[in-house]
Amino acid sequence: MTAVQPIRLVLFETTHPGNIGSVARAMKTMGFSDLVLVNPVAEWLCTDSRALASGAQDVLHAARVVPTLEEALDGCGLVLAASARHRRIGCPEMNPRECAAELMGQALSRPAAIVFGPERSGLANEQLDLCNAIVYIPANPAYSSLNLSQAVQIIVYELRQQQVLAREVPPPESPLAGPAQLELLYQHFERVLLASGFLNPTNPRHLMRRLRRLFNRTRLDENELNILRGILSSLAPGSGDNPKRD
Ligand code: SAH
Repeated sequence: MTAVQPIRLVLFETTHPGNIGSVARAMKTMGFSDLVLVNPVAEWLCTDSRALASGAQDVLHAARVVPTLEEALDGCGLVLAASARHRRIGCPEMNPRECAAELMGQALSRPAAIVFGPERSGLANEQLDLCNAIVYIPANPAYSSLNLSQAVQIIVYELRQQQVLAREVPPPESPLAGPAQLELLYQHFERVLLASGFLNPTNPRHLMRRLRRLFNRTRLDENELNILRGILSSLAPGSGDNPKRD
């Protein structure tokens, strides 16, 4: 049987240490331990977070801290974003059960991640640009914003329920392309489209965001990504070198 890769929980710019402790506890109760904190509040490891982690001190202390979401997602294939707001243009949406099935299935070939946003603002477009789909916990439409750790608890509960089923899912033929590989594809597209005149050099962001959303939605695997890059290189020879941009 294929070894299941870890499912990574990523907390983006969390501001309350207590929430980080509660997340560690929620994760441990459901058997998860891969916790990454992106640019959390200073002093996140404190009396509050320790108290709320309770018996999950090991998960709390093992949390990795990184400065950017890109670094948090290093090595991951499928990346989902938990959002208290739904129906974002261009982003496919799933419920916690679907999300758990997808994460467990993809984790058969490559680590998969789910990202949770800051308490006040949730995730912004810049972070959603790195994600394949949004997970929305269907809540009261008049007040759908759960406490961060309670949102995590619901997701990890569903993941645990899926664990038995996921063992029966065959691993995908080719692993999903991760955010770093996709970024190279987007840069390649941008170069070719600028050179062909299709992309307006004074305002390239809008079209590039739509293209990102399109490809993120399709969940390219590594073979498919290589085919696309090969096509771009054949149409615009020499365009595939990914020079460093300013
Ligand atoms: N005020 C923010 C909500 C932040 S709650 C907003 O309006 O977007 C902190 C995080 O918990 C969110 O970014 C999300 O990751 C998670 N969360 C809260 N409620 C959720 C819900 N109903 N569905 C999915 N994730 C949710």
